[in-house]
Amino acid sequence: MSLKTFRGGAHPPGRKDASKNAQIEYFSSPKQVVIHLNQHTGAPNQPLVKVGDSVRRGQKIASSDGKLMIPHHASICGVVRKIEPRPQSNLLDGVAIVIEADGGTETEFLPALDVFSCTREEAVARIREAGIVGMGGAGFPAWMKLSPPASKPIGIVIANGAECEPYLTIDYRTCLESPGALVFGMAATLHVLGVKKGVFAVEDNKTDVVPVLEKAVGEFLAGEGSGKGFDISVQLLKTKYPQGGEKMLIEAITGRQVPSGGLPMDVGAVVQNLGTLKAIAEAFREGKPLIDRGFTVTGGACKTPKNLCVPVGTVLSELIPDVIDVRADLARVLYGGPMMGVSVPTLDTPIQKNTSGVVFMTPGEARVFDEGTCIRCGRCMRYCNCRLSPALMNEALLSEDYAAADAIGLLDCIECGTCSYVCPARVRLVQRFRVGKMKLRAMKAAEQARVKARAEAQAAAEAASAAVASPASPASKEAK
Ligand code: SF4
Ligand code: SF4
Repeated sequence: MSLKTFRGGAHPPGRKDASKNAQIEYFSSPKQVVIHLNQHTGAPNQPLVKVGDSVRRGQKIASSDGKLMIPHHASICGVVRKIEPRPQSNLLDGVAIVIEADGGTETEFLPALDVFSCTREEAVARIREAGIVGMGGAGFPAWMKLSPPASKPIGIVIANGAECEPYLTIDYRTCLESPGALVFGMAATLHVLGVKKGVFAVEDNKTDVVPVLEKAVGEFLAGEGSGKGFDISVQLLKTKYPQGGEKMLIEAITGRQVPSGGLPMDVGAVVQNLGTLKAIAEAFREGKPLIDRGFTVTGGACKTPKNLCVPVGTVLSELIPDVIDVRADLARVLYGGPMMGVSVPTLDTPIQKNTSGVVFMTPGEARVFDEGTCIRCGRCMRYCNCRLSPALMNEALLSEDYAAADAIGLLDCIECGTCSYVCPARVRLVQRFRVGKMKLRAMKAAEQARVKARAEAQAAAEAASAAVASPASPASKEAK
């Protein structure tokens, strides 16, 4: 099988051996869970429960009527004890519903739904009601990807099995342990989109999953998927960071480049994380909302690296030391992998829908280097997979020239950290880009609000003067 890839990228050490052979271990009985209202892209939800309410596993407990609406559900049976701000892995520390377990085992799932015979609207509504988000990163509502406008026809669905972040192995284990669910999730996604071509994209450091996935595809197409015309295959990719970025994946598989400021649907593609496909399969087959999360626990300060699955909202501190054994010289905890992860200040941070890994770092791994000055070597530009100019964006941000940073593509940066990784001067490029993007987005939003307010004021003034000038208007008649 020929290997596909993208332009740019780097080769950080993989360090996956520590957990790759550890079967996913299920821990289903936390004493409490902390379910944040804002663990997704879009406006935070509103609670549908109050302190003192009893809830069942799978019960909808938070929702909103926003454009990117995605509800959240109780992941255990218990009693709502608090609704208050709690620490969070995105460091936003938003409001959370705290549920204390009562030992119950009742579930409140949706009824199973046959995705191949229901309407498209019913299928999209099911994925939305099950609270499924993209489980690889920002928590973008999965149903939005399945509702592209008619002007953006989709020709291919890519299952993102690259798992290019060093250390993480949960996607690899999911391929080995639940290939049938992944293939069903892929078929459901293809069916909802009206697309035939689906590709499981896997890096070539995981070749052993290829026959496993191909066997599951064959069984599905010979059974439940027979006669539906699906063309589902497995494609090996060169192991390179950040191969799992949506834009990189699409470039590698299709040769197309997502335009600046654009989305995968602009080039006819939809990319789904493997965890998301499994959650989609469960939502149709079992009516189960997204209430459990698989993730890798690893790092030099983790004595027994493993792959775990816990109810969403389980707090890390509750897993230590019985489930996760940590060394005394633990220096830092990252949620996510070492390239894109976020350092959290407390072990009381819950596992969210988009937590793919937790890395426990030793002082050596967590060492922070002094930042140097750019020596204009150009390495960051050569390695940037998004064809950006990190050194120039850095210069613009250092002089707080946000317009200049915007003009050279700051918002197209996917914050992969490749530029920082290769920079010999250890310039804190990606850290500066993260903050710069937040500031730039806030400035744009404020400007849009100003423009809207000005337009509304002008329209109101014009309406008022038209009412005075018009003889037919009640105001004019009264004046007479
Ligand atoms: S890699 Fe670092 S030193 Fe080299 S041009 Fe980029 S920012 Fe400057
Ligand atoms: S500029 Fe952004 S996209 Fe390019 S390498 Fe750096 S972090 Fe990645």
